[in-house]
Amino acid sequence: MLRVWEQPGPADIAPRINDFLRGLPGPIAIHVAGRDPARCRVLVTLSHGNEPSGLEAVQRWLLSGTQPAVNIVVIFGAVAAAAAEPLFFHRMLPGERDLNRCFTPPYEDCQGELAQAILSHIRRQRPEAVIDLHNTSGSSPAFAVTCGDAPAQRQLVGLFVEQLVVTDLRLGSLMEQELGCPVVTIEAGGSQDEQAEVTADRGLARYFGEDDVFAQLRPITLFKHPLRLELSHHSRIDYAQRALHDRDITVRDDIEQFNFAPVHAGEMLGWLDEDGLDHLLISGGPDDHPPVEYFRVEDGQLYPRRTLRVFMATTRPDIAASDCLFYFIPED
Ligand SMILES: [Zn+2]
Repeated sequence: MLRVWEQPGPADIAPRINDFLRGLPGPIAIHVAGRDPARCRVLVTLSHGNEPSGLEAVQRWLLSGTQPAVNIVVIFGAVAAAAAEPLFFHRMLPGERDLNRCFTPPYEDCQGELAQAILSHIRRQRPEAVIDLHNTSGSSPAFAVTCGDAPAQRQLVGLFVEQLVVTDLRLGSLMEQELGCPVVTIEAGGSQDEQAEVTADRGLARYFGEDDVFAQLRPITLFKHPLRLELSHHSRIDYAQRALHDRDITVRDDIEQFNFAPVHAGEMLGWLDEDGLDHLLISGGPDDHPPVEYFRVEDGQLYPRRTLRVFMATTRPDIAASDCLFYFIPED
């Protein structure tokens, strides 16, 4: 289920990313021996097929032939989804579950079994740290997401980014699992953002290269307890510059500009048909939050009621429908 590739050298690595991807036999763990073979760090990436920045950064690092400080294990999960045409488009294969929602039991389908295999492989390494590296679906500044904000997690976050979202949401993702060491998720930004490449390369160089990744506490800004804005079950969504009449909700197609910016109450987010906020629901946190608590509709247009910090906004209708429109944190 999860193959192991021991110690590939630069000559084994295809220099073009598409060839490198197509050469992978499926989900795979790459092992590279470090200067200190008594310790291990794990990087999980490509858990979503449309998020290439981690794969690309690992490929560049493998091509460089650099010896890491400690043993490194890199795990690519959604190889098949990434390699399906068009390349790097499918978050997961049609009909399959999202791999990063499958790490909590039961492990009954093939994605669950793969998640379970990844977890056991990680636990066998007894790593000192696990990083799960993603792209955001839309254009965005880079940030980290963690469950909890222990100093060791903040030290790992600081290797990559300067903003951290601490979440209570439990979705079945890798970072929620007990792995015997600190775990953090890095969202390097959108796959089209040049900054995502810089973030991934710089973070990997530090994470693989530094003797002690817990030596420094770099300054980071914390955001706590995000909520998710989701689409109601059968509602139809799309993105445009005006209301689309065959959709229940149309979100403005430049919504990604708000990622990580404060969005004020006067900012119009999109258009709803006559059922209004019934097309939306909010999840996350211990309490129920009806959409009307944070949003209002005026003349068929959707506005926040108060300033919100928005992130993970996408303009992919399939991702908005299967995951969420965006995450948000109400500002004080
Ligand atoms: Zn992802």
